[in-house]
Amino acid sequence: MNESIDFIQTPVTTLYGSNSFSNAIMRERLPKNIFKELLAVQAGEKELTLEVAEVVAASMRDWAIDKGATHYTHWFHPLTGLTAEKHDSFISPTSDGRVMMEFSGKELIKGEPDASSFPSGGLRATFEARGYTAWDVTSPAFLKQDPTGTTLCIPTAFIGYYGHALDKKVPLLRSMDALNKQALRVLKALGNANSKRVLTTVGPEQEYFLVDQEYFAKRTDLMLTGRTVFGSMPAKGQELEDHYFGAIKERVASFMRELNLELWKVGVSAKTQHNEVAPNQFELAPIFTTTNVAVDANQMVMELMQKVARRHGMEALLHEKPYAGVNGSGKHNNWSMATDDGINLLEPGDDPASNARFLLFAAAVVEAVDRYALLLRASTATAGNDHRLGANEAPPAIISVFFGGPLSEVLDDIADGKSHERKGAGRVELGVTSLPSLPMDISDRNRTSPFAFTGNKFEFRMVGSSQSIATPNTYLNVAVAQVLSEFADKLEKAGDKKAAIQVMVKESYAKHRRIVFNGNNYSEEWVKEAERRGLPNIRSSVDALPILVKAETIDLFEKHKVLSKEESESRYHIYLEKYSKQINIEAGVMVDMAKRSIFPAVSAYGASLARDATSFAAIGAVSAPQEKRAKRIAEVASELFDETEKLEKALAEAQGVEDAFTQAKSYREKVVTQMAVVRSRADTLELLVAKESWPFPSYEDLLFKL
Ligand code: ADP
Ligand code: MG
Repeated sequence: MNESIDFIQTPVTTLYGSNSFSNAIMRERLPKNIFKELLAVQAGEKELTLEVAEVVAASMRDWAIDKGATHYTHWFHPLTGLTAEKHDSFISPTSDGRVMMEFSGKELIKGEPDASSFPSGGLRATFEARGYTAWDVTSPAFLKQDPTGTTLCIPTAFIGYYGHALDKKVPLLRSMDALNKQALRVLKALGNANSKRVLTTVGPEQEYFLVDQEYFAKRTDLMLTGRTVFGSMPAKGQELEDHYFGAIKERVASFMRELNLELWKVGVSAKTQHNEVAPNQFELAPIFTTTNVAVDANQMVMELMQKVARRHGMEALLHEKPYAGVNGSGKHNNWSMATDDGINLLEPGDDPASNARFLLFAAAVVEAVDRYALLLRASTATAGNDHRLGANEAPPAIISVFFGGPLSEVLDDIADGKSHERKGAGRVELGVTSLPSLPMDISDRNRTSPFAFTGNKFEFRMVGSSQSIATPNTYLNVAVAQVLSEFADKLEKAGDKKAAIQVMVKESYAKHRRIVFNGNNYSEEWVKEAERRGLPNIRSSVDALPILVKAETIDLFEKHKVLSKEESESRYHIYLEKYSKQINIEAGVMVDMAKRSIFPAVSAYGASLARDATSFAAIGAVSAPQEKRAKRIAEVASELFDETEKLEKALAEAQGVEDAFTQAKSYREKVVTQMAVVRSRADTLELLVAKESWPFPSYEDLLFKL
């Protein structure tokens, strides 16, 4: 627990944002003209001057020091997908042997963390290791409190000496600019003269598991890879769905409460929490905000989740698939576009059929998802996510868009040139006088869709739980920006705008509605139907990634100034390498656990059974059950031994491959497949030996005890 704030005595409204150098704080602390300048910089209307930075830095420093900060850090998102920080203290020596607390405008806007060991995919050799961090003026600085003290964290972008993006933030910010530019063109053509900016908004729902630390510490696989590479399912799994939305256990509740308070302090608006489908699985959703701020906030959510869980003797698992046999974890990326004057461009309103703006922007998203399905798929391609996408669970690797009946009808009628009969959204009558009748939503929900329209936003559900949401949003923004740019080209030229919109929506939707699917995405029929429609179904990350370096992708990113050719290529290499490294670790852990834990344990147990059988036989008692079991154990253990050796061979082979793609392919096709074989032998053995003799905690312990 953090001692400095009395959680019970402090009202949430006071607590909220108390550790965030938000615009509200800046309005209070900065001279009026400086604050106004800063707002203009945030809005992209002006460049930041050193003069303004000096004043902001001094104010930020004073605020932080008042709150006990001794250090500051430029906080950034290297391509590891995590966040990075290097702390510098504020102290500066004076001539008479004392110190002053200093922090200049220069230190605020630019840092040089060296940080040459982060992956750069060849963009930056360590011997020419200049890398800079630059202040992201639009994301508020915040305070981090831990045993190292209180540190002022300044969200930054990370770039190389020649201006190459070395992180996930730079392309994201560039993609937001690209979308802003194209969406504004469309809005202008539609006659909107008021909106000055279009921002993308995101609210990511974070799924995670909790596990008791005592059990966690006994599982090398969980500790080193975040997932279990062994473990047979207990008799009870998630089939009863009794965990989903169930009452929250006290221990978990007190963790959630503290996590909320910690998040609120740094200005992250944690809003919703509930039990998820799988046992010991949970979800946290914040209130949506501008994409880059949401990305930063989600990184804080993941970090604080793990930190706070440890204070409660638990471990938060962010891996996409910690356990085989129960649901994995995703991050539902709720996404929309909004103007600076408060218009949600995906708001259908009461009468979507005559809402030209909605129809145009919705059609643009559908077209973008269809044309750039491979890119969206690639944005979620990680070794961990492979266990979700393309396995028999949510969501499938096939991208489709859900609109729901009423909205699909509106768009279908336009595409088919039929006039649409307006049906009011109506009300849901409950048939019980004591219950109020409810206004009906424009569309129902579909929980199986990878890209679902949910009222006034799209929910991209393929994103993995441990991923930074920066990349999926970057690609999504670029895809939509491209379609909007084509729409804008046409609209700007059109004489009769209304007629032009009608034609554009009609043509676009007719061509791309093949991506719309309102049925059950988990069904076998959909897999066949999708194939018939020509929709890609890429189950493996390794096969999903090459789209990143296809000429058309490189052109797309260059056109919208989001990634240069070198940046695209370097990212492709980093993702492949990361995939290979992760599988390499998992397979290594598997070999180690099989040989050094499972094998000795089952040998000893089998031998004891054989000894029992002999002793029973000696006194003339029935010894067949012991004998049978000992024999079966010996057989499966021998298979486990052989299969583990095969895994070691496959691993050695993959390690020896030079080319990054061929290597990742080798990991996927030889190592991952052999891991499944080894696992099946070990999981069989687990059920043949006594519970006490199994060398590490079982699924029952991990999934049901808290
Ligand atoms: P569900 O679980 O039913 O999908 P939640 O309430 O858990 O719904 O999550 C919905 C998420 O969508 C929240 O984070 C919410 O803030 C976010 N959201 C709502 N409106 C928008 C919007 N216009 N743009 C982006 N995200 C939004
Ligand atoms: Mg959701």
